[in-house]
Amino acid sequence: MRVGVPKEVVAGERRVALVPETIGRLGEGVEVVVEPGAGERAGFADAAYTDAGATLGDPWASDVVVKVASPSAAETARLHEGQVVVAFLAPLVDRDGIERLTAAGAHGLALESIPRITRAQPMDALSSQATVAGYKAALLAADRLPRFLPMLMTAAGTIPPAKVLVLGAGVAGLQAIATARRLGGVVSAFDVRPAVREQVESLGATFLDVGVQGEETEGGYARELTAEQQQAQQAGLQERIPGFDAVITTAAIPGRPAPKLVTAAAVRAMRAGSVIVDVAAETGGNCELTQPGEEIDVGGVTIVGITNLPSTMPTHASQLLSRNMASILGLLVRDGELVLDWDDEIVAGACVTRKAVAA
Ligand code: NAD
Repeated sequence: MRVGVPKEVVAGERRVALVPETIGRLGEGVEVVVEPGAGERAGFADAAYTDAGATLGDPWASDVVVKVASPSAAETARLHEGQVVVAFLAPLVDRDGIERLTAAGAHGLALESIPRITRAQPMDALSSQATVAGYKAALLAADRLPRFLPMLMTAAGTIPPAKVLVLGAGVAGLQAIATARRLGGVVSAFDVRPAVREQVESLGATFLDVGVQGEETEGGYARELTAEQQQAQQAGLQERIPGFDAVITTAAIPGRPAPKLVTAAAVRAMRAGSVIVDVAAETGGNCELTQPGEEIDVGGVTIVGITNLPSTMPTHASQLLSRNMASILGLLVRDGELVLDWDDEIVAGACVTRKAVAA
C-alpha cells in the first residue's frame, strides 16, 4: 500500500499530515511518498523523511492520501477513482469539497467524523489539535495582557494574580484552563454540559454558575441552546465578565456557527487592558465583536481572533496529528494491502464520500 503526503496549499497552513517519526511505525508493506517540501514549514526537512524510509515524489498517485485540509479543486483533479483521502474534510460545512470528492470517486475519510468511541481515541485528531489550540490560547492571553498572570510578592510590593475566564470547557477549554493555571492565573470556567463542572474543579479552577444548563448528546457534544437559554446565558455572563482580565472562549456546536456568548455590551463593560482570545473565531466567534483572522482593539480591550491556532505550533501539532493518522492507517492496511472494511464502525463512520460498493 502506498501512502501519499502532499504539501498543504491553504494559505497559512504550516502543518503536515505525517512526520518522519511516524513512518517507521506504519508496518511492513506500507510505502510513503512525500511531496518535496511537505514538512518544511513544520520543521521536518525532506532529508528527515528519506532517512525514515520515505521517498520524495508525487503523492497523488498513492492508494491513500493523507492531508491536513480538505483537497482544493486543483488537488481533487489529481485524484483517481477508488483512492482514499484522510483529512479534515469539514463534512458538515464544506459542501463543495464533499461534492468534488464524491465526483472524483474517492473515499473521503473525515477526521471530524471518526466516532468518539474508546477504540478510536488514538485517532482523535479533533482532540489532538484542540489541545494545541487551548494551550496556545492561554499563552496568547498571557502575552497580550499588560500585566502578570501570577501573584508576585516583590520588594516593590505585591501584585495580585490575573483573573482568567474560560468559556467552553471541552478539550481546548480544559487545556486552556490547565495552562493558565500553570502560569499562575486564577481561573474560572463555564460550560453548558453539566458533566464539565467536576473536570473544571479537578484542574483547580472554579466553575462559574450562570444559571444555564444545556444537554449533552450521545457523542458527548453540547446541544445547541434555545434562543431563551442563549439570552439568559449572555445576560448572566455580561454581569460577570467585567470582573475578569482575560476571557478565553472555546464554545462550539459541531457543524453550527459558534454560539455568541460575549456581547458587544459585555466587551464595553470590560476594563481597558483586558483581553479576549476567541478560539471559535473560525466558525464566527463566541464574541459578537470578533473579527476572524484579526486582532483588534475595542476601547482598550484586545480581541484576538487568530484562526487555525494549531498551525501556529506546527511541529507538535503535526506530530500529534501524524500519530492519529498512523492509527487510522493501521485500520486500512492488511498484509501490506489497502482494505476498506465497511463493517468496522470507525471506517464506516469516518467515510463521508463512500463510493457505492457492489454487494
Ligand atoms: P467542541 O469543540 O465541540 O465544543 C467545545 C465546548 O463548548 C464543549 O465542551 C461544549 O459543551 C461547549 N459549549 C457548546 N455550547 C456552549 C455554550 N453555549 N456555552 C458554553 N459552552 C458551550 O467539543 P470537544 O472539546 O471536541 O469535546 C466535547 C466533549 O467530548 C468533551 O466532553 C470531551 O471530553 C469529549 N470527548 C470524548 C472523546 C472520546 O470519548 N473518545 C474524545 C474527545 C472528546
